[in-house]
Amino acid sequence: MLNLVLFGPPGAGKGTQSAKLIEKYNLVHISTGDLFRMHIKEDTELGKRVKQILADGLLVPDSVTIDMLEEEVKKNPQANGFIFDGFPRTVAQAEALDVFLTKNGEKINGVVQLDVTEEEIKNRIAERKKISGRADDDEDKLLKRIDEYFSKTIHVLPYYEKQGKVASVNGIGEIDNIFNGICAAIDAVK
Ligand code: AMP
Repeated sequence: MLNLVLFGPPGAGKGTQSAKLIEKYNLVHISTGDLFRMHIKEDTELGKRVKQILADGLLVPDSVTIDMLEEEVKKNPQANGFIFDGFPRTVAQAEALDVFLTKNGEKINGVVQLDVTEEEIKNRIAERKKISGRADDDEDKLLKRIDEYFSKTIHVLPYYEKQGKVASVNGIGEIDNIFNGICAAIDAVK
């Protein structure tokens, strides 16, 4: 199995790159943000619970997020591997993921960090909003989400750095060039 974490701030292009990666490496893409948005759209119990949290650009509690993630992994027993996009966002989530994967005789093979400046992120989110109309991408929520990334999520990187698993890829430029950089990083850990 090939299990990867795609790491980077909101709007860094994780969704775009994931779509290309799942095709090339035949992986299952799990985006916790997409899953939460789906629950909100379908007005499930979980959706009702997290709606305001997403609207505020805050992080959903770890236990809720971890349970949802594990359930999603279990739905794909035949998978060649997974791309975790937007997860883990806290050290507690990273630890829980390791425990869960180890139980199943699996592990995270590599963590790709998309390196993007704050300015580039803001431009990309504005573009994406135009295309998809995503409700949680309002300008006033953008700073909150970026703040959550730099105050909380960034602390997940040392967790994986200690394990020697992080590859940093320049996330600015042409989509295909960035993709090639990610593939080179993945091929080195495959
Ligand atoms: P994203 O599309 O990955 O930027 O996620 C959108 C929103 O979903 C985030 O701003 C959080 O409110 C929530 N979310 C997604 N993934 C997580 C996670 N791993 N932990 C906590 N909250 C999350």
